[in-house]
Amino acid sequence: VAGFTEDELLEVIRRLLAEDAPGVMLGLGDDAALVEMGSHLGILTADMMVEGVHFDRGTVSASDLGYKALAVNVSDVAAMGGSPRYGLVSLGLPEDIEASWVVELYGGLRDAAGEYAMAVVGGDTSRAERLVVSVAVTGEVARGGAVTRSGARPGDRVVVTGALGASAGGLKLLQAPPHDVVQTVSSDWGRTLLNSHLRPAARVGEGQTLAQSGATAMMDVSDGLAKDLGRLCEASEVRAAVVLDDVPVALSLKELADVLPDVEPLALALEGGEDYELLATLPPTAVRRAASKLAERFGTQLTDIGEIREGRGLVAIESDGKERPLEPRGWDHFSG
Ligand SMILES: [Mg+2]
Repeated sequence: VAGFTEDELLEVIRRLLAEDAPGVMLGLGDDAALVEMGSHLGILTADMMVEGVHFDRGTVSASDLGYKALAVNVSDVAAMGGSPRYGLVSLGLPEDIEASWVVELYGGLRDAAGEYAMAVVGGDTSRAERLVVSVAVTGEVARGGAVTRSGARPGDRVVVTGALGASAGGLKLLQAPPHDVVQTVSSDWGRTLLNSHLRPAARVGEGQTLAQSGATAMMDVSDGLAKDLGRLCEASEVRAAVVLDDVPVALSLKELADVLPDVEPLALALEGGEDYELLATLPPTAVRRAASKLAERFGTQLTDIGEIREGRGLVAIESDGKERPLEPRGWDHFSG
């Protein structure tokens, strides 16, 4: 895929697939596909993790890898407002992988399946040059209950669950020279960052609550707020203005910045990937009630970070009220 960004390649593939196949409500290009499935809509999503691209066997346990591989798919189901049901797991295994490693991986997969009340029901295995963990998940949502990326309207507020940047902070900890962080990994805040990276939480209940609260568009933040909000705006054909001071930055990043060089908490919150928080747009009148429901039901904070406007692209609003373009930078699995 030389010369292509991930988004450009997806656009090429999208043109090759039939958009109008019977039963397909929504094809490639959102967090998940939506298809006719009995009395509900089926949600279909898949995500592949490749050694050397998405993880490094030296820093991630098989159990955490299994957990995360399922959780990131569940997050895409959550982003549609749905409930996860079944998972299929396919493994590409290099010759040096031992059976005990695969057993441990399935332990993590089972933990995640239990957490999200779903079942892993099959898959495939093959010999491979590199370790690959590929997971597909199905879910369901009531007809009319799904929220896509394309419904944001000028005047809507932009909201995000939880806090951002913790996963990128955890990755920095994993990649730091061990003697720099030996005290850190046993501290509360160090463990919080590592856990955010290794065992991210999919916001299933929150996604359903946001859908019921009138979310006009929704997606999960997998590649960084700036990049993913850029995608939401493109799908909805709108512009977003983000108040930088209002972006919920993970608190533990301040402590990380004291220990490691080159840690800028706001930059990690805007551009760090793999937080799996939900990004949504809501009519202004719906924000307060949605926030109190999320707090009551899940103890999850919902933060209003800006507004949807007419036009295209992203702007950042600085502390002094000045506006500047916000580049949709973030994690791209092709340019890395
Ligand atoms: Mg997604």
